[in-house]
Amino acid sequence: MPKYVYFFGGGKAEGDAKMKMELGGKGANLAEMSSLGIPVPPGLTISTTACKEYQKSGGFPAGLMEEVREHVARVEKAMERSFGAGPKPLLFSVRSGAPISMPGMMDTVLNLGLTDETIKALVEETGNERFVLDSYRRLIHMFGDVVMGVSKEHFEAILTALKVEKGVEFDTDLSAADLRELIDRYKKLYKEKLGEDFPQDSWLQLKKGIRAVFDSWNTPRAVTYRKLNNITEEMGTAVNVQTMVYGNLDDNSATGVAFTRHPATGENVFYGEYLVNAQGEDVVAGIRTPQPVNLINKVDDSQQTLEELMPEVYGELAAIRDKLDEHYADMQDIEFTIQDGRLFMLQTRSGKRTANAAVKIAMDYLDHGKISEEVALMRVETTFIDQLLHPQLDPSAEYEAVATGLPAGPGAAVGRAVFDAATAEKWDAKKEKVILVRNETTPDDIGGMNASQGILTALGGMTSHAALVARGMGKTCIVGCGHLKIDFKARKADINGHEIAEGDWITLAVGNKGEVIIGKLPLVDPQFSGEFGRFLELADKHRRLKIRTNADTPEDSRKARSFGAEGIGLTRTEHMFFEEDRIPRMQAMILAEDETARRKALDKLLPLQQGDFEGIFEAMDGLPVTIRLLDPPLHEFLPHLDEEEKIAALAKDMDLSPEQLKKKIAELHELNPMLGHRGCRLSITFPEIAEMQTAAIIGAACECRKRGIEAIPEIMVPLIGHVNEFSYLEEIIRRVADETIKQQGIELHYLVGTMIEIPRAALTADKVAEFAEFFSFGTNDLTQMAFGFSRDDIGSFLPEYLEKNVLPKDPFQTLDQNGVGILVDMACRKGREARPDLKLGICGEHGGDPDSIDFCHRVGLNYVSCSPFRVPIARLAAAQAAIREKNAKK
Ligand code: ADP
Ligand code: MG
Ligand code: MG
Repeated sequence: MPKYVYFFGGGKAEGDAKMKMELGGKGANLAEMSSLGIPVPPGLTISTTACKEYQKSGGFPAGLMEEVREHVARVEKAMERSFGAGPKPLLFSVRSGAPISMPGMMDTVLNLGLTDETIKALVEETGNERFVLDSYRRLIHMFGDVVMGVSKEHFEAILTALKVEKGVEFDTDLSAADLRELIDRYKKLYKEKLGEDFPQDSWLQLKKGIRAVFDSWNTPRAVTYRKLNNITEEMGTAVNVQTMVYGNLDDNSATGVAFTRHPATGENVFYGEYLVNAQGEDVVAGIRTPQPVNLINKVDDSQQTLEELMPEVYGELAAIRDKLDEHYADMQDIEFTIQDGRLFMLQTRSGKRTANAAVKIAMDYLDHGKISEEVALMRVETTFIDQLLHPQLDPSAEYEAVATGLPAGPGAAVGRAVFDAATAEKWDAKKEKVILVRNETTPDDIGGMNASQGILTALGGMTSHAALVARGMGKTCIVGCGHLKIDFKARKADINGHEIAEGDWITLAVGNKGEVIIGKLPLVDPQFSGEFGRFLELADKHRRLKIRTNADTPEDSRKARSFGAEGIGLTRTEHMFFEEDRIPRMQAMILAEDETARRKALDKLLPLQQGDFEGIFEAMDGLPVTIRLLDPPLHEFLPHLDEEEKIAALAKDMDLSPEQLKKKIAELHELNPMLGHRGCRLSITFPEIAEMQTAAIIGAACECRKRGIEAIPEIMVPLIGHVNEFSYLEEIIRRVADETIKQQGIELHYLVGTMIEIPRAALTADKVAEFAEFFSFGTNDLTQMAFGFSRDDIGSFLPEYLEKNVLPKDPFQTLDQNGVGILVDMACRKGREARPDLKLGICGEHGGDPDSIDFCHRVGLNYVSCSPFRVPIARLAAAQAAIREKNAKK
């Protein structure tokens, strides 16, 4: 028969911290503390195996209760008390504890074992009737609510009513007689709701308690949480049955929680709070204000620290703190209780911390030789890096969010609400901080977005225009806030029933919930401290993937480089043409009657493009720069047919009548432009575009070389599906490039490669690799085309997909490894078979997503490329991917 029950306490234990899968996190650490000689009230842990068998059969596995009885007897012996009987009754807490801590599991029941009989014995023993009755009423409440499912509001209503009747404010003001009355009322409620009496058999209480913990494994909250976090249903939860200690015995008793280091700053100081004469969750429940544990954390004289009140107990606690901090080599979150001057530890686990603290703590243990570099790197979540690069909401700020949306851009922002880009720019010029609030954004809004502290949109997903641009700019941004209704005419908006007018202050706190708050909240600056820099250098040492950036301007390139980028994976050439002084030349090119006219227009664009490229090469001196040829459909550069003013102006420029111009624009109209005349198709029909762009790229590189700047150009063809599309353009590109190099009389090495973003290109990657020197996976389009989802229209159904679990995650955010990923993997293999030194990278949004980066590492890409602000995250994610792979091989 398997062993189901494990003993801990009194310096001994049948398990240890490594047995989390069997004993759950709480049980494993209670065992570990016991073995370390730390005072832990003795108890027993029922294993997850027992829970698993219970889930299968619906009943306790054979022999379980016998084993529980044997272990209870052992505890009884250790404590010199007896469970369910006088003269010295033993009481237990029943605590759930899964291998991974998760919401939805059963709350702890304290004081289990009290009955009308045992309370008499306990009163006799302690001479403290009030304490015993207080414990009993807590048991009936907790047992009724947590184990039997009587909603706690019923109990709370009775308690509140009694306090009103007795004219008292706090629970602690109720007399013993009042508590007797309360217990009677609780028992009546129990019987009324459940049709049976509160169990007067301690063993029955225990059995029901254990069963309730097992059942809580399947609460809807727990099931959903496991599904969302890919936690297997197989694991099961353990049950800890532990001797009660009483922080509510008298004023020489207390209960508290503490961290072995400061959880917000990461400083190596002991930090905690406690309450005298209290039990269980009283410290965190906000019933009374807890006091600081030690003098270092005392802020004013009204506070009384444990260090002052019970110096000896504090000394013992501080020594345990040192021991645990040293032993676990990670910041611990601990629970303790003092019973009549005696200290007991009730829990230890790795503590939650801020981003700053996480880095500081990891580096500190590393510096002291307590953990390896790998462990230090794995201790910091990649999402923390994001937080460290942007202003955040002051952690002490109190607020209530009026609505939430998708957390698209990092950090937090405060500003006055404006509803259009022009106003944003105007107000910004007057040095007003603004938040741009829109239904969605378009390329026309870029100036206004740039002028804003943050962006809030009603529509769109994580890869909508607003989200992409915001992340690129490193702007705080929340998209898809469904509760936002904007009235552009009246210049006001309704956010979930709260009205704001233009100019009202709002705060965006992105975090991972995308919270929208009305009003102006305090922000704190990012801490780009020395520790953080060292931490990222450590990551660089452990990663195999190179990290490049997607950047279209010298400014972005420099920023990315300062964040650690090792080159550019994607420069989009079209963005340069949207600028005001350039768009007319672009329009002239697009509307040109014939090749001659087009070449003339292109000649005017060439020096501008070349200038841009020189700036980028200079910023990326010595590092590779991948430049993509023109990609979007041409009509994107033209005014809409209903924009009369713009049409009139452009017609004048072009020497056309507005009607003639409109006709031309209408000719360029496409039903489905994303699948229309764009990408390499443009350069195949108008080769002079590819010629001009190649001349500009290579010309810029030669120019830089002359100035001693090492330009390393990689020319990239977008949107090929058939190898012939690539080979046709490759020939043109090489011809122009080689001519340019010859003319300049310079040695220059360049590469010509392609995006892989159409499924057919991935399927025939071996053919493509015969010509292409590199592949860059455009996973945005690849996902779009593999799923057949239009990226711009997913807002209308993707939220439902996620809610109904049709898809586990937004595939535009995290690469769909089992579908789109197969295409990527296959293209890598086929490509490398045809050309062993083929360079492989990714330039889609996924290049900045940690899970997707892990995938990129595993399929053996050479680099990932992401927006400048995600470069530091990618550095850590790539290191973690390498460490994970190494650990898996062990
Ligand atoms: P959680 O997982 O929610 O932290 P716990 O069982 O740790 O659940 O906590 C519930 C509260 O009850 C904590 O304050 C804890 O310290 C307290 N508690 C649990 N077991 C005992 C016990 N044997 N004696 C006294 N207090 C206990
Ligand atoms: Mg706890
Ligand atoms: Mg594309």
